[in-house]
Amino acid sequence: MCGGAPVAVVGGGNSAGQAAVFLARHVSRVELLVRGDDLTADMSRYLSDQIDASPRIRLHPHAEVVELHGDRALEAITVQDSRTGTTRILDTRAVFVFIGAEPCTGWLGDALVLDDDGFVVTGPELQLTHLDPARDRRDRAPFLLETSRPGVFAAGDVRSGSAKRVASAVGEGAMVVQLIHQFLGVLDGARPV
Ligand SMILES: Cc1cc2nc3c(=O)[nH]c(=O)nc-3n(C[C@H](O)[C@H](O)[C@H](O)COP(=O)(O)OP(=O)(O)OC[C@H]3O[C@@H](n4cnc5c(N)ncnc54)[C@H](O)[C@@H]3O)c2cc1C
Repeated sequence: MCGGAPVAVVGGGNSAGQAAVFLARHVSRVELLVRGDDLTADMSRYLSDQIDASPRIRLHPHAEVVELHGDRALEAITVQDSRTGTTRILDTRAVFVFIGAEPCTGWLGDALVLDDDGFVVTGPELQLTHLDPARDRRDRAPFLLETSRPGVFAAGDVRSGSAKRVASAVGEGAMVVQLIHQFLGVLDGARPV
């Protein structure tokens, strides 16, 4: 799609690193833009080593994209050095942005306790002080992946503190099935015979 033209990747985590290494096989140059000093803070060593070794990937530390240029398609970007404020223009035909994700939990309103970033709080992380006694009345500690609402569970990336990995998300999904059985068992036990 990029036709061998130079591209930019924004971000210093593993997703950005994987993208940069992949794209470097297909384009003439990858401009890798990170806000920090280097790649050590958020990227796995095996990826940062590949990036260091790739002649087609150029790392720009302390860099932030401040402008996009082009008429019918992207032609260049302006990048600012956050330490000095100086800017430079880089020829770029595409920008790939890997700067984190926001959970789609706005629709929940205040139905469930969320953390400051909007992820759903579950299990032991759910301090009892977070619970609204009128709304979330409960006579037991929440199960491991249970939300502030008894019987409502969260699994995967949307869960506060989750690993943000496929295997973890799938594993948590499988765990939740087990926890729902436990929850239903508690309900059954609570029912008068
Ligand atoms: C670029 C990138 C690279 C990655 N690379 C790796 C990797 O190499 N290895 C790895 O292990 N992990 C990787 N991950 C992370 C991995 O993709 C996630 O951890 C995993 O997909 C989480 O699964 P999930 O089911 O929790 O969430 P998702 O896969 O995000 O699925 C959530 C689903 O819910 C849907 N949804 C959202 N809101 C609603 C709603 N209100 N109603 C109905 N449906 C809704 C969404 O559309 C989506 O289909 C990567 C992620 C990204 C973005």
